[in-house]
Amino acid sequence: MSDVIETDYLVVGAGAAGMAFTDSLLTHSDATVTIVDRRQAPGGHWIDAYPFVRLHQPSAFYGVASVPLGNDAVDRSGLNAGFYELANADELRAYYAQVMQQHFIPSGRVRYFPGSDYVAGPAGGHRFTSRLTGATHEVRVRRKLVDATYLEGSIPATSAPPFEVADGVRCVAAGDITRLTHRPERFVVIGAGKTALDACVWLISQGVRPAAIRWIKPREGWWLNRSYHQPHTYLPDFYGGVGLQLQAMAHATSVDDVFARLESNGFFLRVDTAVTPTMCHGAIVSEVELGLLRQIEDVVRLGRVRRIERDRIVLDEGAVPTDENTVHVHCAARGLPHPPLRPIFESARVTVQPCFWGFACYLFALLGVVEATIERDEDKNRLCPPIAYWDKNADYLSAFLASLAGEQARAAYPALAAWAKSTRLNPLGAIGQYRDHPTVVETRERIKRFGSAAASNIVKLLSVSA
Ligand SMILES: Cc1cc2nc3c(=O)[nH]c(=O)nc-3n(C[C@H](O)[C@H](O)[C@H](O)COP(=O)(O)OP(=O)(O)OC[C@H]3O[C@@H](n4cnc5c(N)ncnc54)[C@H](O)[C@@H]3O)c2cc1C
Repeated sequence: MSDVIETDYLVVGAGAAGMAFTDSLLTHSDATVTIVDRRQAPGGHWIDAYPFVRLHQPSAFYGVASVPLGNDAVDRSGLNAGFYELANADELRAYYAQVMQQHFIPSGRVRYFPGSDYVAGPAGGHRFTSRLTGATHEVRVRRKLVDATYLEGSIPATSAPPFEVADGVRCVAAGDITRLTHRPERFVVIGAGKTALDACVWLISQGVRPAAIRWIKPREGWWLNRSYHQPHTYLPDFYGGVGLQLQAMAHATSVDDVFARLESNGFFLRVDTAVTPTMCHGAIVSEVELGLLRQIEDVVRLGRVRRIERDRIVLDEGAVPTDENTVHVHCAARGLPHPPLRPIFESARVTVQPCFWGFACYLFALLGVVEATIERDEDKNRLCPPIAYWDKNADYLSAFLASLAGEQARAAYPALAAWAKSTRLNPLGAIGQYRDHPTVVETRERIKRFGSAAASNIVKLLSVSA
């Protein structure tokens, strides 16, 4: 055991959550922070992300509150043409390194230990061990442990496929399709989430014929339309989307009907309009991407893959042939976990979890501001009751309801409300600048008219669907 480290907060996880939370603590308190992560650099899963990943949301709303990400430029070409920039993995890694090296550490209040595994010590103690040297540090925490790993997701690059793969079968993690040494005749993309979408889009945009791609999709998903999730000059449309959602939620007769109504005005999108989606992970896509995905006609809907043999793929509900000239692309990582909810704020611990529907970094930063500016844990928990990450359609409605309730509760805290209005991480914080825009005027009316009816109807729809 080497030296003992004393700190106000011990943040475990230097991903987007730990970084945004720490940034808020630094801005809104005088606390010292020790950050530990088993990865060698800050940025969490972005460190190992597939090479063609980009944010699905504009960079304008991502990262830590005090350091802008990107240049707020509108892309002029490519699949995101006409929309505000989306950082890629290299940009995100560089951004988080810059935040750590040029902001956190020079503040003199942050110590950072990469390449280190945290383990809870005996009797509520804390320690971490360097993966390189084996040196173990005990940490004396004056205020709280911040667990920014509770909802750590899994990604294909660092987790084995959830199916058996026989010897001789070519099966690669999503990112490895960029490094193939032998050109295959066919690709089988396995997964229904955003990684699978990205892999299909990347293959087609590299010139792979859609007919050479088979897509194994256990579920169909709802996707948010990028046109409704833009900053700055497009913000009135973002706000307009809120009004449309409230109107749909006020009138819908079932959870599926909410989505059907919002699909009719282009707010929600799906790849295959003949299949009713059962999942909504909240990722954003553009209609151009959708157009590419619709070119894939060989879609297999026989449940999850159980094993890949040399000549067939065995699924829950059947089997399809395969061969040695096919590359199988693993996009089927478990994604975000659903551990039991626990209070976010406890006397010696903060457990980072979502408390409303929204962009992740706004949420993470808000928890840091709440921790730093509100005294009693009881009040903090009342303002930020935890909810599970959304997965099924109904989860989207519960999370949306939590947003409506939370916003009202937080408005009673002027410092918090002022921060929410001014932070770049809150997409709608700047809507006041467009107050006279016709869409904004119309949306205000819609919100007045449908806001409370939407809230009570969501409760009803959720109780019926439970
Ligand atoms: C491909 C992809 C694209 C995404 N795009 C977006 C997007 O555009 N917008 C958006 O809002 N969200 C997006 N997300 C969701 C994403 O989950 C969040 O944006 C965010 O990056 C998650 O950060 P995190 O800190 O919670 O988790 P992680 O990035 O997983 O970080 C957790 C960290 O904890 C460390 N750790 C875990 N256990 C220990 C331990 N015992 N000791 C030490 N360290 C430990 C891990 O090494 C890891 O670095 C995307 C997710 C994926 C997978």
